[in-house]
Parts: sequence; structure tokens; C-alpha cells
Amino acid sequence: MINKGLLLIISGPAGVGKGTIVNYLVEGESNYFKSVSATSRKPRYMEREGEDYYFVTRAEFMRRVKRGEMLEYTEYNGNYYGTPLPPMKAHFEAGENVVLEIETDGAFQVKSKMPDAVLIFICPPSYEQLEARLRGRNTETEEAIIRRLSTARHELSLMPKYDYIIVNEDGKSDLSAQYVREIVRAEQLSSKRGIPHIILPE
Ligand code: 5GP
Repeated sequence: MINKGLLLIISGPAGVGKGTIVNYLVEGESNYFKSVSATSRKPRYMEREGEDYYFVTRAEFMRRVKRGEMLEYTEYNGNYYGTPLPPMKAHFEAGENVVLEIETDGAFQVKSKMPDAVLIFICPPSYEQLEARLRGRNTETEEAIIRRLSTARHELSLMPKYDYIIVNEDGKSDLSAQYVREIVRAEQLSSKRGIPHIILPE
């Protein structure tokens, strides 16, 4: 009971470094499963099918939703994103820690279905640093950057609804991943997740 896996939900604005933190977290760890989302967004440079996302058409995405194959889904910046249910369910039931890197709307959908899910928000050191990181990516148009910044403001306002907040300092993603591991350990040892059954002598 004490070593049951956790459902970890990692959110935070685009450009905050969630992906790097999650990669540090799951790298070489067989008891962590990183969920691969489905999306109707077009692949970016270097993104790979089945590794970064499952890239599908909008019609195919909605077919999967209708078949009940998504744990949650949302429309974000004009594209659908969702968590495929069967793989995450299989790994979760096998006792692994399942990690979803998803935005706030999806995070709250999951929390209402699975209240034991642990919500972790990754916060930038400042708004200015977030903007600089987004611009540094060089993968987006100015219009897309402005849209992402306005979405970021909304997401930052939802931070108090998360169970934990980690400020991801520049170049310190490995430290942030370490904090996530410490949260996992504390959650696993929490009395709310189960009390060891000790048989006391008469
Ligand atoms: P991007 O297009 O930059 O890869 O992702 C945009 C946003 O969608 C990010 O905040 C990312 O965390 C979120 N996202 C990725 N996959 C999912 C998903 O399966 N469900 C939800 N709700 N959001 C997702």
C-alpha cells in the first residue's frame, strides 16, 4: 500500500522548462511512466511521433474522445491535447508513478476524477525570464509568443489551486526534478495514502 504509484500532474506556462524537468525525473527510472499525449497540433522541428506526442487530425482526436479513450482533453491555443487513457491506466495499476505534463484545464479535470492525483505547478523565477525563455526558443512567430504570454498570465493565476509549487531557476532543472522526487517520497509516506497494518499483541 505504501509503495503504490502516484499520479503526478506537472503544469506550468510554456517555456518554463516542464519538459526538461520531467525528462530528468523519468530518465533511467523504471518505476516512472511519462504519458505521451495526443494532439491535433502539427509537429514542431525535431518532434517525434510517439515520443513527444501522438499527432492526429482533429477528426481522429474527437473520435478517440467519443470512444472514451481520453482521461482528459482540452483545446489549447486552437489545438486539441489529451491524455490517452489505456496506457496511463495500465502503468498506474502496475504501481508505477505516472507523470502527465498537461495544462491547467486538463489538470483540474484529472483531479476531479482522481482526487489522489498530485498537482505540481512549475513557476518561472519571473515573468520577464519566462518571456526571455520563450523568445530564446526561436521556434514561434511573434504572434504565437504574445498568445503564449497571455495564456501564461492566466495559468499563473491558477497556481494557488495546485498542491505544490516549484520555482524553476535558470539552469536548475535537475534540482527541480529532485524536488519532485522529494514530493513523491513525502506523498508516499503520507498517512492519507494508507496506514501500515501492525498486529499488536494482546
Ligand atoms: P505544446 O504545444 O507547447 O507542446 O503544449 C502546449 C500545452 O499543452 C502545454 O502546457 C502542455 O503541457 C499541454 N499539454 C500537452 N499534452 C497535454 C494533454 O494531454 N492534455 C492537456 N490538457 N494539456 C496538454
